[in-house]
Amino acid sequence: MKIYHDADVDIDVLKGKTVAVMGYGSQGRAQALCFRDSGLNVVIGLRKDGRSWNKAKEDGFKVVDFAEAAKTADVIMMLLPDEVQPKVYKQFVEPNIREGCALEFAHGFAITYKTIVPPKNVDVIMMAPKAPGDKERDVFVEGFGVPALVCVHQDHTGNAKNIALALAKGLGSTRAGVFETTFDYETLTDLFGEQAVLCGGTTGLIKSGFKTLVDAGYPPEMAYFEVCHEAKLIVDLINEGGFERMWHVVSNTAEYGGLTKRDLVITKESEKGMKKILDDIESGKFKDDWTAEWANDLKNLKAMEEKEKNLQIEITGREIRKLFEKKKKN
Ligand code: NAD
Ligand code: MG
Repeated sequence: MKIYHDADVDIDVLKGKTVAVMGYGSQGRAQALCFRDSGLNVVIGLRKDGRSWNKAKEDGFKVVDFAEAAKTADVIMMLLPDEVQPKVYKQFVEPNIREGCALEFAHGFAITYKTIVPPKNVDVIMMAPKAPGDKERDVFVEGFGVPALVCVHQDHTGNAKNIALALAKGLGSTRAGVFETTFDYETLTDLFGEQAVLCGGTTGLIKSGFKTLVDAGYPPEMAYFEVCHEAKLIVDLINEGGFERMWHVVSNTAEYGGLTKRDLVITKESEKGMKKILDDIESGKFKDDWTAEWANDLKNLKAMEEKEKNLQIEITGREIRKLFEKKKKN
C-alpha cells in the first residue's frame, strides 16, 4: 500500500476553504477540534435544536443548520451515523451542494452500497481515521496523530486526493502514516473486522468463556476477572508488539497452554463462519439486512441491546467495575 507522511502533503490546498463538519458526535467533534487547531476554517452543520448544537457552540464553533452548511462549504464531511447519512444527504445536502465541492466520508458504507449517490460534478473522497474520536483527539493533543486511510471515489476537480490527504494532515495522521485504498476495500474490511473479530467476535468469545466457567459452578466474579477484565491487558500487549510481545510477557504456562489449546476454540467451523460473514458483506446481504433495520426504526437492534444488558456477565461486570471506581475516588 502507498503510505503518505507529513512531507508528502500540502495542507494549504485547504487554505481559504470552508470545511463543513456535519454531525458533532465521536468523529465530528474530534475532527473539528483538530482541524481548527491545524488552522482550517471549520463550520459545524447540525439539526436546529439537536442535542449537539449547544455543545458545538460551547466549544466555540460557528454552528449552522445542515442546509446552510452545505451551501457554503468547499468540503462537506458526512460525520453522521451511517443510517442517518442518506436522509440528511437527500434533504439538505443534495439540493445545496455546489459544483466542485468535496463530499467526504469517514467510512465507505454510503458510497459502496449506494445509499448516497452524489452528482458527477463534485469530488467524492474518504479520510477514515483508524481510531474512535476521543482517542484521535488525545493523540493529536499529545502532538502526534492516529493512522488514517484515504480514498478517492470521484475526482471532478483533479484535486480530490490532495484534499483528502490535507484533511488527514489536519488530523495529524500524516505524522503516523496515511494509507491509500479504495472505498470498497475500506467498507468491506471494516465491516468484516467489526463483525467477525472486534465487536462480534470478541464479545462472543468472552461471553462463551464466562458461561463455561459459571455453568461449571465457578463464581461469576472470578469468571469475569479471568475472561473479561484481563482481556484488555492482553490486547494492549498485542497492540504494542504483536503476538510475539504478548507471548513473551505472559508466563510460559500461559504461552504453552494458549498455543496448544486455541484451535479447540476457534475451529475450522469458526473459520467457515467468518467466511460466511465476508460472503454476506460482499454480496450485499448484510447491507440489505441492515438497511431493512433502518426502515424498521432499529427496533431489532434496540431489543438486542436490551437483551445484551441483561446478560449475567454484564450484571456481574457492572458490580465489579463499581468497586474499582470507588477505589479511584478514595
Ligand atoms: P456518532 O453516532 O458519534 O455521531 C453522530 C452525530 O450525528 C451526532 O452527534 C449528531 O450530531 C448527529 N446525528 C445523530 N443522529 C442524527 C439524526 N437522526 N439526524 C441528524 N443528525 C443526527 O457517529 P460517529 O461514530 O462519529 O460516526 C460518524 C461516521 O464516522 C460514520 O460513518 C462512522 O462509520 C465513521 N467512523 C466512526 C468511528 C468511530 O470510532 N466512532 C471511527 C471511524 C469512522
Ligand atoms: Mg473500523
